[in-house]
Amino acid sequence: MPIHSPWRADFPGILALAAEGQTYLDSAATAQKPQAMLDALLGYYAGGAANVHRAQHLPGERATRAFEATRASLAAWLNAAEPSQIIFTRGATEAFNLLAYGLEHCFQAGDEIVISALEHHANLLPWQQLALRRQLKLVVLPLDNSGLIDLEHAAQLIGPRCKLLTLSQLSNVLGGWQPLSPLLALAKAQGALTVVDGAQGVVHGRHDVQTLGCDFYIGSSHKLYGPDGVGLLYGRTAALQQLAHWQFGGEMLLQTSYHSARFRDAPLGFEAGTPPIASVIALGASLAYLAGLDADAVATHEARLHAQLLSGLQQRQGVRLLGAPQVALASFVVDGVHNADLAHLLTEQGIAVRAGHHCAMPLLQSLGLSGAIRVSLGLYNDSSDLERFFTALDQALELLR
Ligand code: PMP
Repeated sequence: MPIHSPWRADFPGILALAAEGQTYLDSAATAQKPQAMLDALLGYYAGGAANVHRAQHLPGERATRAFEATRASLAAWLNAAEPSQIIFTRGATEAFNLLAYGLEHCFQAGDEIVISALEHHANLLPWQQLALRRQLKLVVLPLDNSGLIDLEHAAQLIGPRCKLLTLSQLSNVLGGWQPLSPLLALAKAQGALTVVDGAQGVVHGRHDVQTLGCDFYIGSSHKLYGPDGVGLLYGRTAALQQLAHWQFGGEMLLQTSYHSARFRDAPLGFEAGTPPIASVIALGASLAYLAGLDADAVATHEARLHAQLLSGLQQRQGVRLLGAPQVALASFVVDGVHNADLAHLLTEQGIAVRAGHHCAMPLLQSLGLSGAIRVSLGLYNDSSDLERFFTALDQALELLR
């Protein structure tokens, strides 16, 4: 049965790519943008750009108001207690680095940082490097056969030296929702800080950081139908108070002399220099667009399309799914076929999917793979995109096998 996206026409990028013969199935890498976001981006520049938080003049006040309105929208989107719990960074990756530097003073040699086997490099390398700087131990939670963190092993591995647990909510490779509640509870019982990588999770459904109960939650604007160059870091107020300042410059200070300074609290104390003003304002427009959609209709559409993707892959001989994806994406390999060759033939047929290690090299290595193909869906995709993908896949496999 054909599945149409009622929102497809709202995304000029997906229409432009289609007109060029491109089928875009790589939204987990970055999403196309709604017209409302493009209008906000242009509106800010065309209406007169101005810096935020410093100018007394009208354009500066207007820009500051719009910028802070996005902070309030994000706080509402995540059900944070207050807008001041949201820090804007220049990407999810920068938010992880902020935490790894800002919390460095909380660790002593021998302390443990716990991650899982499927973390994106953004939630691995900042901690790995911190562990190397401070002689900490990085503990890696293993996965079960469906790609979820194994709770029994986790209970044994999250011990009294665990000072921080940091986990992906939704894997960008395996597409499974992690059992965060019991995992965060294990860490909290040891008095550890908890971080959730919501870069993929925040895009699908609505998540309540207070219910989740994590200390920090990280997301990425460009995956959430917003512009690139913006990341978000939510922190519980008490957790934010533990952060040491890490980037220094304009606007993050209260007072300075040549030889010493006093800094602002979060959020502004962690937003040194001119932020990505236009992008933050435009992210606000993306959120307003998303908030205006029927959330149940979006979830149903995503679920139906995902089911179609999974069943199409499962029907094809030799295609092996990675994990047990629950939403929005599926990664796979084909027996006897190199993923780079397959990716090449798909690209030649105008299919935009992602191939390789997906910034999770240790995970792919642990699965004995050098790479995999990932198909990921946005709310603008419909079944005609999947039909074109499967036709191209069949043709490629006929050539390769
Ligand atoms: N975590 C996950 C799970 C991701 O998928 C990504 C983006 N691929 C990131 C973190 C990093 O996000 P960004 O590249 O936007 O900084």
